[in-house]
Amino acid sequence: MKILVINCGSSSLKYQLLDMDGEKLLAKGLCERIGIDGHLQHKPQNGKPVFDENIDLPTHTEAIAAVLDKLTSPEYGVVESMSEIGAVGHRVVHGGEKFAASVLIDDEVLAAIEECNPLAPLHNPANITGIQACAAVMGDVPQVAVFDTAFHQSMPGKAYMYAIPYEYYSDLKVRRYGFHGTSHRYVSARAAELLGKPIEELKLISCHMGNGSSICAIDGGKSVDTSMGFTPIAGLPMGTRCGDIDVSVLEYLCQNTGKTVSEITNILNKKSGVLGISGVSSDFRDLGKAASEGNERASLALDMFHYAVAKTIGAYAAAMNGVDGIIFTAGIGENGPDTRAAICGYLGYLGVEICPKCNQKRGEDIVISTAGSKVAVMVIPTNEELVIARDTKALVEK
Ligand code: ADP
Repeated sequence: MKILVINCGSSSLKYQLLDMDGEKLLAKGLCERIGIDGHLQHKPQNGKPVFDENIDLPTHTEAIAAVLDKLTSPEYGVVESMSEIGAVGHRVVHGGEKFAASVLIDDEVLAAIEECNPLAPLHNPANITGIQACAAVMGDVPQVAVFDTAFHQSMPGKAYMYAIPYEYYSDLKVRRYGFHGTSHRYVSARAAELLGKPIEELKLISCHMGNGSSICAIDGGKSVDTSMGFTPIAGLPMGTRCGDIDVSVLEYLCQNTGKTVSEITNILNKKSGVLGISGVSSDFRDLGKAASEGNERASLALDMFHYAVAKTIGAYAAAMNGVDGIIFTAGIGENGPDTRAAICGYLGYLGVEICPKCNQKRGEDIVISTAGSKVAVMVIPTNEELVIARDTKALVEK
């Protein structure tokens, strides 16, 4: 079965077409500036040329139509016709408390996803638009929703509740949800394979470190705590997000800058994190370079990030009463040996010891701890699209 995986944003749409016989990537690409003007980059994996041009994309429906046109075209295509695509899997950001697993989409499910819109007002409406656009262009091909939040629905109340009046939870659904669930689920399952042990017997800590970063405590294959919260701003300082701060800062900043709550919230989301501290960049490659050239604020930003990750790992080792494996994944986790070494430098008390040579390897599932390390430390490239395609296949074939 061939499965189209869609990750739809408000003005963008990322896609991959996978052949699930052998889990092979057939093509991938990206539509950008949808509703503004439009650009499509399409990369077939069969040796045909890349298409990378501005094209008119007034809505997501035209974007899906353009993607299907390229996937089936003689010049850029990887399949003969649309009928070869057996199902579509969508990344959906927020499934609230309604969805603890992926689900086949019907009208009732779509309505339930829509009910979660207030919890992710920037993301969920865009995800729904993608689902509707596929239905408009592809007819009744089965569609599946895979939620960023679903994996974390196994967290116990003591981990997901905020200590605020209970009605804010019961009436307004304010609680920790957590995100990056698809990634944490994938890398923890791979870690168990890599370690040759059943996941049910493992206590794992997964560090997804990209533009957005989150850490997850996974006990016996289930998420028991995670660092992002009601929204993705919580937890670690990130590229541009502040991570955990004292909530009183919000009112104080409003009073002292004359800015509104939304303006300050926007600053905390888009101009904070390592960008805000360093004044240099949100990109860890730029920060590393600036720090090596003596930029103290860049060094401080990196130190703050390493310290926050190490503190969270310590907290989750305590929460699970131990840890067997620590996983690094996503842009920084997969490509930042210095970051991994700096974080592991805090973890000697857990018996963590990494092998400097293994830590320099790239692009593969590897154990980077020494044979004597009490905790296995692993680098596992994430693959959220593959999880979405697998879940889609499983639900469609059920
Ligand atoms: P997103 O959350 O957007 O999916 P990614 O997982 O792609 O983000 O991660 C982006 C981050 O990964 C950026 O901060 C970037 O600097 C970092 N990164 C990418 N390549 C490297 C590298 N070679 N060394 C260090 N950091 C890297």
